[in-house]
Amino acid sequence: PIETLYDLEKLSVLGQGSGGTVYKTRHRRTKTLYALKVLRSNLHTTVAVEADILKRIESSFIVTCYAVFVSLSDLCFVMELMEKGSLHDALLAQQVFSEPMVSSLANRILKGLRYLQEMGIVHGDIKPSNLLINKKGEVKIADFGASRIVAGGDYGSNGTCAYMSPERVDLEKWGFGGEVGFAGDVWSLGVVVLECYIGRYPLTKVGDKPDWATLFCAICCNEKVDIPVSCSLEFRDFVGRCLEKDWRKRDTVEELLRHSFVKNR
Ligand code: ATP
Ligand code: MG
Repeated sequence: PIETLYDLEKLSVLGQGSGGTVYKTRHRRTKTLYALKVLRSNLHTTVAVEADILKRIESSFIVTCYAVFVSLSDLCFVMELMEKGSLHDALLAQQVFSEPMVSSLANRILKGLRYLQEMGIVHGDIKPSNLLINKKGEVKIADFGASRIVAGGDYGSNGTCAYMSPERVDLEKWGFGGEVGFAGDVWSLGVVVLECYIGRYPLTKVGDKPDWATLFCAICCNEKVDIPVSCSLEFRDFVGRCLEKDWRKRDTVEELLRHSFVKNR
């Protein structure tokens, strides 16, 4: 039902990312609420292809993209409105995530990743700000196409390298960028669930310098991730499997969905 951008009335700003702004909007005729993401872009050639992929995505674990509009300098995505914002917002507001909450979160993200994998899509940018919550409290994956189209490997502003897997960081470091496997998304999931539980980025220590070298060591070199003693054995084991440095030994999404930590969520 959304034929042009003028069908939508802007109500407020929901958030700001490195590439643009996300607005809360209302369809003038139907009064349905949508999120509208406006990105400055000069990479129009790939857009048509990506928009096609976006329209084929239909999953209750992925934020729906209803339409994509391209204008001279902007790329506009009309998305499902996720009323409660992102996990990043929740963490900033110091929301506490209990283990059962983290477990159902992990379960939903894994189901979203399984869906994307079946479509042959590597998300490549799983991080708290790309995991959105609706008014029912359900978490969904957002931004798998958008980040690839627009950022094109420039994961600048939000220090996003923090969620990259060791194999990915190595590639970035040597300047090859680009091709990432499904295992990278599993690593990022591990970082996110642990971050939700402890309430801060888990791979570095409090007081560590916030620079690239420290982060690189934390991701690629440090053997031990500090997992709080309060964690159950299941949780500990689950996180350990996600944060396996060698991607060939890391559990797959299918394997993790059978793990006792998330199985019956
Ligand atoms: P980056 O640019 O590095 O990807 P980001 O993910 O924070 O960072 P955006 O994807 O532009 O940037 O999103 C900015 C913010 O807008 C999010 O953190 C979230 O709070 C909000 N937001 C994005 N999409 C939606 C949506 N569909 N519904 C509600 N809020 C949203
Ligand atoms: Mg985002």
